[in-house]
Amino acid sequence: MEQESGNLRLCKKCLLRDMEGQEEYFRSLREYIENLDEDRKVSASVYEERLTVCRQCEMLLEGMCRSCGCYVELRAAVAKNSCPREYWMKMEQGGSKAACQE
Ligand code: SF4
Repeated sequence: MEQESGNLRLCKKCLLRDMEGQEEYFRSLREYIENLDEDRKVSASVYEERLTVCRQCEMLLEGMCRSCGCYVELRAAVAKNSCPREYWMKMEQGGSKAACQE
């Protein structure tokens, strides 16, 4: 979702992978994630579940979490990382998507 504010275009609820003009940056980020040690990464399914929560989160802006300042596609890839608002934990404990945004 993009919003225009004067000449500045803000992309709310978008991951880097979704933003036009960010393809090169996302490619670099994806390569970095792919080269992380496998034992440090979450499974592909947990990764996508975490990003699904981020996509619905009010703190996501232009691929970055406004709560922690991280690019969520990188933060979500690392197993030891957590959501600063514990939204991933609620999802991983079986909460509904709506419950993740309480
Ligand atoms: S607060 Fe949590 S769910 Fe929201 S964007 Fe940041 S990491 Fe993602």
